[in-house]
Amino acid sequence: MNLTDAQIERYSRHIILPEVGGKGQARLLAGRVLIVGAGGLGSPAALYLAAAGVGTIGLIDADTVDLTNLQRQIIHATPDLGRPKVDSAADKMRAINPDVRVITRRERLTAANAQAVLKDYDFVIDGTDNFPSKFLVADACHFAHKPYSHAGILRFDGQTITVVPGETACYRCIFQAPPPAGAVPSCSQAGVLGVLAGVMGTLQATEAVKFLLGQGELLTNRLLVYNALKTTFRNVPLKRNPSCPLCGATPTITELKDETPATCDLK
Ligand code: ZN
Repeated sequence: MNLTDAQIERYSRHIILPEVGGKGQARLLAGRVLIVGAGGLGSPAALYLAAAGVGTIGLIDADTVDLTNLQRQIIHATPDLGRPKVDSAADKMRAINPDVRVITRRERLTAANAQAVLKDYDFVIDGTDNFPSKFLVADACHFAHKPYSHAGILRFDGQTITVVPGETACYRCIFQAPPPAGAVPSCSQAGVLGVLAGVMGTLQATEAVKFLLGQGELLTNRLLVYNALKTTFRNVPLKRNPSCPLCGATPTITELKDETPATCDLK
């Protein structure tokens, strides 16, 4: 891929980096990233990936923009209230960078559509906000062999890990199954610092860019835990769990399902 003069100028601060260069920028432009959820995590991820010139960005989200979203979902603005989130987000991304092809799906990711939704992408960003969706993304990426970035946020705490299916510890190696409904409060029940979503979603975008470039070390086999009140980042080393129900030696999850039985063995 030959960059145009305008692209060389637009991406000059990338191209000047030896780890990126013209070749790396061409890789970004050829890259395809799916963002599941155009909310608190998906907003900064989508903005940065569009600005970075990731050539194809998919967005899947069924929701419309609500007033309570605007405290942290920075891709949406007050005039977008009531609009589908994918439309609001796509407008901003296209305005930032006309090089980017934004593919929107106004629906939820489900076991039924996951294969078709994921198949055209190189990397997936999990920007969902509830446990069933996070486990569905984890399982769907496993079965589709798609590397992905998980992140979760609540109150002042965030956690993130990157998973390369079949190679590195997966989400279910750590958390075998979703907690029982109601056991862990949601952001709407317990609150979340808006900026926290920006920090974690931006880390996820960084992982996607590094993956596309083939540079650096991905956040694999360790969970990065951020506490905004204390400004601490902790690395929790992890290994693949041989008895993981998804990627272990004798997996019990052998096909994608929407509902995962709730158990109490969240660790
Ligand atoms: Zn696993």
